[in-house]
Amino acid sequence: MSFTRISEIGEFGLIDRIATLVQPTESCLSRLKKGIGDDSAVIELSNGKLQVVSTDLLIEQIHFDLLTTPLEHLGAKAVSVNVSDICAMNAKPLYATISIGLANNISVEMVEQLYKGAANVAKQYGIAIVGGDTSASVTGLVISVTIVGEVDADKITYRSGAKPGDLICITGDLGRSFAGLKVLMRERQTMLETFAENPDMDKSTYKADLSDYQKVIEKHLLPKARVDAVKFFHEVGLVPTSMIDVSDGVGSELKHLCRSSQTGALIEETKLPILAETREVSDEFEDDATTYALFGGEDYELLFTISPTDLDKLSSFPDVHIIGKMLPQSAGIKLRDLFGTDIDLTKTSGFEHFTASAESTFSTEDNSYLHNHDGHNGHQADDENDLCGGRQN
Ligand code: ADP
Ligand code: MG
Repeated sequence: MSFTRISEIGEFGLIDRIATLVQPTESCLSRLKKGIGDDSAVIELSNGKLQVVSTDLLIEQIHFDLLTTPLEHLGAKAVSVNVSDICAMNAKPLYATISIGLANNISVEMVEQLYKGAANVAKQYGIAIVGGDTSASVTGLVISVTIVGEVDADKITYRSGAKPGDLICITGDLGRSFAGLKVLMRERQTMLETFAENPDMDKSTYKADLSDYQKVIEKHLLPKARVDAVKFFHEVGLVPTSMIDVSDGVGSELKHLCRSSQTGALIEETKLPILAETREVSDEFEDDATTYALFGGEDYELLFTISPTDLDKLSSFPDVHIIGKMLPQSAGIKLRDLFGTDIDLTKTSGFEHFTASAESTFSTEDNSYLHNHDGHNGHQADDENDLCGGRQN
């Protein structure tokens, strides 16, 4: 058997190969509306409604670092990021299962903290946690969440329905989660240095003052799925023509929408919603806030398109921005920058697992996390320059 490194074909190349191996049989096909390739799988129920199913995996040192992530927050985030994939289908989340792999440094109390966070946020979303699985792990803490939701057949929204001329919209603001991660990783470094200099120190007494960074840190540790936007769409009878949630960065997600919908797109830098707090952090790190917004990822906002004739319906939703327009495929996928220059976004990327340098996010030897940063669904930039748009998918 030959040995092809996964980095040679990348995360999405690997998923394509898996997809060819697990092609559904004829008997399943009639009810399977969407398999691999969207935010959730979509299955037709016997009552005509559609069931949506999504699963995500969080692995210690790849997706999170326990030094900077309270377990209660982690439990909540694990649920929220899955709910976000259900929202991306314009569906309502209903039930979740949570599976955990536990290394021997995890106590009963720590597991309880994790589940307190998960249960609390599940209650907010109105979903029930109905099962899971528990195993020992030799590689740290592993959490896998699966969520099932439901939507009327006429409301389902795929990545593939956008048409040239549709308006590109985004809920909330962009880049804030990445700003929070930058601050947390800097703090982690300081913490590790303090512990190294004071080996006898009681680690539980270490206190960090991050009060100036609350907004960005909270967004990173406790992102909320935009169930409010989906509820609004249903209330006003708006069905987006396409939708995806922002796990890997809006630049990358836009490419997914365009690829699935066979369109091009133009978004405008001046229209990207970026909070002052995010800009302050990017200035502090001498980075570009637009880069955080496009490639930072883990914002878990909804990127969607609407027909221009539906614009009125959207007007009473307060937390949405129109950032551009879908174009014919031949126009490519472009960002119009502050100076009016169109930049080709197909040459840039959000996170993809298994690229040569995406292997260890929180390595203690090399704490320049930008080499390996990975969000929940895996967003990452190879290095600071690549974060500025150099890496190819
Ligand atoms: P998201 O970022 O929305 O969670 P992903 O990029 O993780 O989506 O996945 C893209 C698509 O590939 C989804 O339809 C997902 O179900 C599918 N997928 C990912 N990994 C696997 C796998 N190991 N086996 C089968 N399908 C997979
Ligand atoms: Mg998604």
